[in-house]
Amino acid sequence: MCSHKDTCAFYLTYNKEKDTDKKFQILIDTYCNGSLKEICRRKAYKEETGFAHIADLSPNGHHVNNNKRLY
Ligand code: SF4
Repeated sequence: MCSHKDTCAFYLTYNKEKDTDKKFQILIDTYCNGSLKEICRRKAYKEETGFAHIADLSPNGHHVNNNKRLY
């Protein structure tokens, strides 16, 4: 599990038991709870800028609601 999850806005927003959106569950399973956490773009953003991004940045670097690359 990612060590950032207790403070990560993406994880805290979308890791809800009743959230039925498979898109978010797949991202959480593969990044936050899986091996892709090593290449998470949210983690890179925080390390490279010093600021935590709001929840709309997915761990894959895209906006949560479209395919626009944010980081
Ligand atoms: S989105 Fe990235 S920083 Fe946040 S908990 Fe998941 S792997 Fe960690």
